[in-house]
Amino acid sequence: MAEKFDVIIIGGGIYGITLAVEAGRRGLKSLLLEKGDFGEYTSFNSLKIIHGGLRYLQSLDLHRFKESIAERSWFLKHLPKQVIPLPCLMPLYGRGMKKPSIFRLALWANHFLSLDRNEGLAPDHQLPAGSIIDARETKKLFPQADMDGLQGSALWYDAFMPNSQLLVMELLRHACRTGATAINYCRVQSFLTHSNGLIKGVMAVDRATGENHEYRAPTVINSCGPWSRKMISGLADDAGALFRPSLAWNVSFNRPALSTHALAVQGKAPGSRLLFVTPWKGRIFAGCGHEPWLRGPDKPMPTEKQLAHFIEEINLAIPGVNLTQSEVHRVFAGLLPAAAEGSNVLTKREVIIDHGAKGGPEGLYSVGGIKFTTARLVAEKIWEMIGKKTPGLLSSPTAMPILGGNAFPSDAGASQQIEWANRQDGTIVHLDDLVLRRTTIWEQSDTATLTAASAALGWDATKAARELERCATKLQPLALEP
Ligand SMILES: Cc1cc2nc3c(=O)[nH]c(=O)nc-3n(C[C@H](O)[C@H](O)[C@H](O)COP(=O)(O)OP(=O)(O)OC[C@H]3O[C@@H](n4cnc5c(N)ncnc54)[C@H](O)[C@@H]3O)c2cc1C
Repeated sequence: MAEKFDVIIIGGGIYGITLAVEAGRRGLKSLLLEKGDFGEYTSFNSLKIIHGGLRYLQSLDLHRFKESIAERSWFLKHLPKQVIPLPCLMPLYGRGMKKPSIFRLALWANHFLSLDRNEGLAPDHQLPAGSIIDARETKKLFPQADMDGLQGSALWYDAFMPNSQLLVMELLRHACRTGATAINYCRVQSFLTHSNGLIKGVMAVDRATGENHEYRAPTVINSCGPWSRKMISGLADDAGALFRPSLAWNVSFNRPALSTHALAVQGKAPGSRLLFVTPWKGRIFAGCGHEPWLRGPDKPMPTEKQLAHFIEEINLAIPGVNLTQSEVHRVFAGLLPAAAEGSNVLTKREVIIDHGAKGGPEGLYSVGGIKFTTARLVAEKIWEMIGKKTPGLLSSPTAMPILGGNAFPSDAGASQQIEWANRQDGTIVHLDDLVLRRTTIWEQSDTATLTAASAALGWDATKAARELERCATKLQPLALEP
């Protein structure tokens, strides 16, 4: 007998998880199906910045600016243990728009257009107004700043999620407390429809046992990120706009951070973008590299040449830093939606498709998101759209509580984290689920810690050995394409 739900959400990245959170707030029983582990792919690899949208002021995109400000406040308010203020600094050399006079105006607008940004936030999470500081103060905050022609810096505040994987899991646990059922390592294979064209549910395979399962719901949402087009291939509408992939990556280096501030530095090579060099766990964490991507969604990774070029861009932008490939701690890569096929220029807006309105199954929706920051808002937009089509389906959203963070303190040792995660979580299937996504122990994981983690999961010797091998592969700092 097929299990029945109000909605089936396919894909357990931040978009699928926030859809489940917002479904729970509206009284719906959702089923979230994830082919790997929750938050394992794009959502694991972001630069971890919750963007307030200062850059959207440059293009006078006030709508996007306001949306980003509101979502940043939402994260700072509801996940205070996982999201913290991030001071940012951009050295200004007077080139183009990067002049102190222009930035003074931009920071003034940034402040006055977001006067409500601190409403309801804990005092230590409130974001002060930005300012322009002079070259001497810049040097104090960023000793390696290029002083040649430096006219000062723009200083402003954004938000950062140092352990974004724990944030994802915390939101997932909240979704499950409010009516969601979440199953990982379960791949959706196909859609099921009624003879009148209404969606009936999905067929999915449990990857551990190979068993097929039928799940039913009158609403199905495809939030498969880079796989979203593959998921709907064969359906009768133009899926192209949903997700045209481009490659993006960040790199953490085994080198102490250059500043307590996130540094926004302009690349100097022709066509270079703004680079963000942030302090993360005491290290340099730099992003983003962008390249076109013409292959399938699995295993996105820059080539050795692309990575070398990216490191060279940072070295040119920050004279004297001289980073090398041998210092790479880890490459975090993923696919983002581009404006056109084969381009590395990113699209500016999320895409939501109501397949029923375009000749596909009625009750099936797809989403192509662009930012971690706005995932929850997009979930809200989808539910508003569905609510309008199906009056009476949704209850008024209940208030979102402030989530308390993990039960282990941020400086908890490996054994404390392992014990807590293991006790909390019924979704640990593989050792890397525990090591990479439910704790922070992957950052310094040594063989003894991994063996202890595997012992805590109570596996027999054969399974433990297999899992240790799998985990070692997942912990590889980079698996560069040739
Ligand atoms: C390098 C980089 C840096 C970034 N930096 C930032 C940043 O600083 N701030 C910001 O706001 N955003 C940032 N982003 C963007 C942000 O990370 C993404 O917008 C977001 O993570 C996308 O989430 P998602 O849920 O759509 O995709 P994913 O996290 O990829 O989730 C999709 C899920 O669907 C699952 N799936 C696919 N097919 C199936 C199937 N058949 N059955 C079941 N499950 C399936 C996949 O396994 C996957 O887990 C960055 C992105 C990249 C790549």
